[in-house]
Amino acid sequence: MSSGTVLQGRGVSPGRVAAPVVHLAPALPEPDADAVVAVPDRDAEVSAIEWAAVAVADQLRSRTAQATGETRAILDASRLLASDPELVSEATALVRAKGRTAARAVWETAAGHERGLAALGGRMAERVADIRDVRDRIIAEILQVDMPGVPERDEPFVLVATDLAPADTAALDGGRCVALVTEQGGPTSHTAIIARSLGLPAVVGVTGAVGIPDGAVLLVDGDRGTVQVDPAESEVADARAAATVVAFDGRGRLADGRRLPLLANVGGAADARAGATAQAEGIGLFRTEFCFLGRSDAPTVAEQIEAYRGVLAAFPGRKVVVRTLDAGSDKPLPFANAEQEENPALGVRGLRIARRNPGLLDDQLRALAAAAEQESADVEVMAPMVATVDEAAEFAARCRGAGLERVGIMIETPSAALLAAELFEVVDFVSLGTNDLAQYTMAADRLLSDLGDLNDPWQPAVLRLIGIVGAAGRAAGKHVGVCGEAGGDPTLAPVLVGLGATSLSMTPRSLGRVAAALDAVTEDDCVRAAEAARNAATAAEAHEAVREILAGSAGR
Ligand code: PEP
Ligand code: MG
Repeated sequence: MSSGTVLQGRGVSPGRVAAPVVHLAPALPEPDADAVVAVPDRDAEVSAIEWAAVAVADQLRSRTAQATGETRAILDASRLLASDPELVSEATALVRAKGRTAARAVWETAAGHERGLAALGGRMAERVADIRDVRDRIIAEILQVDMPGVPERDEPFVLVATDLAPADTAALDGGRCVALVTEQGGPTSHTAIIARSLGLPAVVGVTGAVGIPDGAVLLVDGDRGTVQVDPAESEVADARAAATVVAFDGRGRLADGRRLPLLANVGGAADARAGATAQAEGIGLFRTEFCFLGRSDAPTVAEQIEAYRGVLAAFPGRKVVVRTLDAGSDKPLPFANAEQEENPALGVRGLRIARRNPGLLDDQLRALAAAAEQESADVEVMAPMVATVDEAAEFAARCRGAGLERVGIMIETPSAALLAAELFEVVDFVSLGTNDLAQYTMAADRLLSDLGDLNDPWQPAVLRLIGIVGAAGRAAGKHVGVCGEAGGDPTLAPVLVGLGATSLSMTPRSLGRVAAALDAVTEDDCVRAAEAARNAATAAEAHEAVREILAGSAGR
């Protein structure tokens, strides 16, 4: 690929940054079970294991020293395992007695430990993932290849992958990755959402990205959706200068003084603290499933209380809207979802999990009620993926039974939007999940970058459904939040307010830009923009009509 080549994708997280490419490391293949090392060569295999174990323990020790909080505890647990003399002595015995290769011996030893832990069940079974992590680290060191997943580097890099699993993206926090480029993925995939929350520019749907050689410098433009290979030095310098965040003063309002609370979307305590630092007025969406990605068994009530308290503590006396587990589809949780589903986006996800496993929801509500009791935040609870009034009524009853008084639902299905008036009779508020509402209205998978034009909240059909919900909220005198990615789009924000949104929730980094956009328009402007957008025939016409109206009001 020649210098200056520009690849086009879809920008899903804004910003411009340049850094060398690092590819997501593939999973390690199982080492050959049939290879037999000749007796004279076995000493070399034994020392390969011993050296690798020492090197891994050393790497983990230095990374532990730099890490904080939960990451530090996880790394330290892995370091202890890597230093476990039993692991090394069992593996080396396999080399000496059976002629296994160093990599195969470590693999088999780890498998034995895994079986032992899995048989013990409970908390011990959770350690299986730690054993695999250490196994992969030692084998990668023996084979001199990268650990599977996000590579660890000391210098900033752009991560390039076919696609990223939620657990990979979660591992980005605190590392040196400065941008993401993937061949697959859509604008509202969780890769995109996490990239936005971490403030990493991201471009998805870049055909040919995985063919870019390791080490080439990439200029990633998350606004334009472009990726330039080995750009000129002057362009790299411009990108550095352009990285700015707009500050928010903590009070969302329109130009005529009407208050419009601006809230944060978070996935855990660290995000919540970032939201508080960014002056968010509260939390409009706490994605609880993000606390448990990568877990194979359900968290206990005590573990949940701890996770939820961490988030509530960041917003004392403020509103925190907690969403019950939205497992399934693009973020499956092994303890909540079936292993295989034909159409997971249309399957047993979100609130529907409670049909099969009501205990999971009841435990979560119990944990939330206890966390709310112990913290001063104003906790509200809502369910994802609601389609009927009966589902909403049953959810509300369960929440109130658990002692949680303010109950809402997300509007993510066209059915829920059309039934908004009836839904307001059984819940206190709703929150528009525009990512899924667009996906289900347009029948377009939110993970497919090829369908990004359909998966667009500017589509008039989506705007008309939002308008139905806004009108029902006004009639009922109840809150209509927006917590999908549309809520963080400064051009769309006035339209959403005109359609009836009473608060907007977004990744904390978007607060400043959205606040500035709203501060420049009156309620009347918002209503006119909303009318024009809703009556447009296409997404492009909706954009154009709103641009004209808001440009006119800016000249007042
Ligand atoms: C949405 O669908 O808009 C939403 C906020 O939920 P999630 O993105 O987590 O599915
Ligand atoms: Mg959703």
